[in-house]
Amino acid sequence: MKKTVPDLALFGGVPAFSQSLHVNRPNLGSREVFLQCIGEMLDRRWFTNDGPLAVELETALAEYLGVKHCVLTCNGTMALQLVCRGLDLQGEIIVPAFTFIATAHAPSWQGLKPVYCDIDRETSNIDPEACEALITERTSAIIGVHLWGRPCDTERLEAIARRHSLHLLFDAAHAFACGHRGRKIGGFGDAEIFSFHATKLFHTMEGGAVTTNNDALAERIRRLRNFGFNPQGVMEGLGVNGKMSEASAAMGLANLGMIDRLLREAKTNYQIYQDGLSGIPGLNLIIYDDAEGHNHHYVVVDIDEDRVGLSRDQLLAILRAENILARDYFYPGCHRMAPYDSAVQGDASRLPVTDELASRVLVLPAGGAMSREQIKPICAIFRLAIAQSHTVRSMLSSNSGVVMDGCSSVI
Ligand SMILES: *Cc1c(COP(=O)(O)O)cnc(C)c1O
Repeated sequence: MKKTVPDLALFGGVPAFSQSLHVNRPNLGSREVFLQCIGEMLDRRWFTNDGPLAVELETALAEYLGVKHCVLTCNGTMALQLVCRGLDLQGEIIVPAFTFIATAHAPSWQGLKPVYCDIDRETSNIDPEACEALITERTSAIIGVHLWGRPCDTERLEAIARRHSLHLLFDAAHAFACGHRGRKIGGFGDAEIFSFHATKLFHTMEGGAVTTNNDALAERIRRLRNFGFNPQGVMEGLGVNGKMSEASAAMGLANLGMIDRLLREAKTNYQIYQDGLSGIPGLNLIIYDDAEGHNHHYVVVDIDEDRVGLSRDQLLAILRAENILARDYFYPGCHRMAPYDSAVQGDASRLPVTDELASRVLVLPAGGAMSREQIKPICAIFRLAIAQSHTVRSMLSSNSGVVMDGCSSVI
């Protein structure tokens, strides 16, 4: 355990970890199920195009999520693009800027213009009131993001969408196995999309899904996903290749069979962090509502610089020097990133809560194979740095050899 500020790797100490700890090391699920499915796939020589593994996974996921239709895709970005096409969205969509860039890129790739909406300070999710104020005659949809898996205010957003005859979508990439008012995320709005990227709690290496209770929309998306062919193989119009391969579906079945264990492990990791970081003034772990049901996949801390004595970026540099690769998700917000930054420029100041939260939060290593033995020293480094923040600050300002690690927002 490090005892003094010079023990910190940023100031020349030995890094706490010889191997890098990543924010979301992939879960493995059941190796046996995965290898068995892959073996069967090889025997069948059926590798994609609605193969039996993909069909089995679609059925199992629809049941698990309590939604009528689950349409698997090659990734979450494609799932969102397919929904935009399937609903024939036009013009503008209203979307939060405090999210992964794909939430904005997918509709933009479909020719839609993202109009950025500020977020609610308590939930970090799209602020319904601010959203309604942005609606114009060009608006066709609202896209909420259940950030860190915490549900959007679906009731108020549904009321707004109804009042203005808009479509309502949710980016549920973070929210697998999360709930809201007794229902699982997946069946809200016109449709929700999931990402099953390797870094997500439930994953298929690369993959995603559209979930919806709308029969016609699900059918349309199935056709769009398969180049525009209908089930009889007749070409009906412009489509794309958005299918999930059998190998990815095998990974999904291997993970879904273990989902209760994966959720338990995530919650345990979260609780170890919660214990280890409790009582540090100005450092607040984002809280999840157990009554709603949560996956505890993201361990997010909010840094109040005035009380902590160090900035989020200074803490990030301290952690990264120890090979603790914490991230500044989703700094600086989509509205301040290319290609959207040029369009908003001065206008960007109307997202004050987004700007503030994006500069305050830090996402810590969690996910598959993180252990108590790894989490405890991470918490101890926070305690040491914050208890000695005066010394850290003065060493940072006097020590020109210290390199503040750059912060980027890539998964
Ligand atoms: C991961 C993620 C996506 C993108 O999903 P891919 O499967 O990587 O295309 C979209 N939105 C959010 C909020 C994400 O975290």
